Amino acid sequence: MSAPTAVRPVAAGPGFGRAFTAHTVSMTWTRETGWTPPVTEPYGPLLIDPAMVGLHYGQVVFEGLKAYRRPDGTVAVFRPGDNARRFAASARRLAMPELPVERFLAAVDQYLRADGDAVPAEPGQSLYLRPIMFATDADLALKPAENYRFILLGFATETFFDPSLPAVSVWAGDRYVRAAPGGTGEAKCAGNYAGALIAQVEAAEHGCQQVLWLDSKERRWVEEMGGMNVFFGYGGSGDFTLVTPPLTGTLLPGLTRASVLTLAADLGYRVEERPLSIEDLRADCESGAITEGFACGTAAVIVPIGTVKRPGGSWVVGTGSSGPVTTALRERLTAVQYGRHPDVHGWMRPVTGGPK
Ligand SMILES: *Cc1c(COP(=O)(O)O)cnc(C)c1O
Repeated sequence: MSAPTAVRPVAAGPGFGRAFTAHTVSMTWTRETGWTPPVTEPYGPLLIDPAMVGLHYGQVVFEGLKAYRRPDGTVAVFRPGDNARRFAASARRLAMPELPVERFLAAVDQYLRADGDAVPAEPGQSLYLRPIMFATDADLALKPAENYRFILLGFATETFFDPSLPAVSVWAGDRYVRAAPGGTGEAKCAGNYAGALIAQVEAAEHGCQQVLWLDSKERRWVEEMGGMNVFFGYGGSGDFTLVTPPLTGTLLPGLTRASVLTLAADLGYRVEERPLSIEDLRADCESGAITEGFACGTAAVIVPIGTVKRPGGSWVVGTGSSGPVTTALRERLTAVQYGRHPDVHGWMRPVTGGPK
């Protein structure tokens, strides 16, 4: 395949969230009329009112999903129906209108009919789709808004598949929390990220690349990373158990997490969704019971966790680099996504009727 034609020129390689494609797909919602039909528009700045509710009170939800180019040249999207359902659940939590699943999928199809050429064919690359919805009322009364805008934009991105992938270091601090029971932790809303950024800065001050979030009440139970779910593996070949914290309402229910649970079982590993305390994480890493750890999410897929650092100590996870099960899971998941392995779970939605 030749260079994508639908990409706006940028200075450097794809990176993340810089090389946006030429179009967006947009819809609006008002209390009286409901959702308008989706329209394809050239990518460009928006004109917004300074009193826009989304800016002031943060009624903003989003999603992240990817389209992959397969060996036969066709394009398929990974689990878009599940993103659609989560988008609706996030909207509900923020007292925003739910976008019906079929409309979400129609917007994805329409976007890819316009800019499907921009799905890269290079190994490890894909097109990241970012649907976002925000309140547009120019009205600062404190109540759920009555006008919303949905926009789907996208950009080409790259994930590195080097099997010797450098593992990330994570900081588990006590100072900040990401989510509390009854809060918005399981909604994919902009505010969760805003509140988490300072912990990312703190992690960097401690020489760590990511934050490992603990629960808000006891600062004891491992929850997730900033934007990715986490797994730790016990044992070795023949007797391996993968553990991930349960969805208590304060974690984001990741689709990569759900897919890893399924694929791990397919590959013959035991999987457990159970609480994991930071003390046990440390003791089990130090004793060698825990042999691997990784984080997973749409953007980076699966990334090994090499070191955990906390006030009062740090420790290595497994060998400190990608373990065999981490590598096997990443291999299987990406093989399904890129169409190199049969899609037995029906996760891929092929795109039809547009550019290749
Ligand atoms: C999006 C997100 C994830 C990962 O979800 P995926 O569906 O796997 O991309 C994990 N944690 C947070 C906080 C997120 O926002």
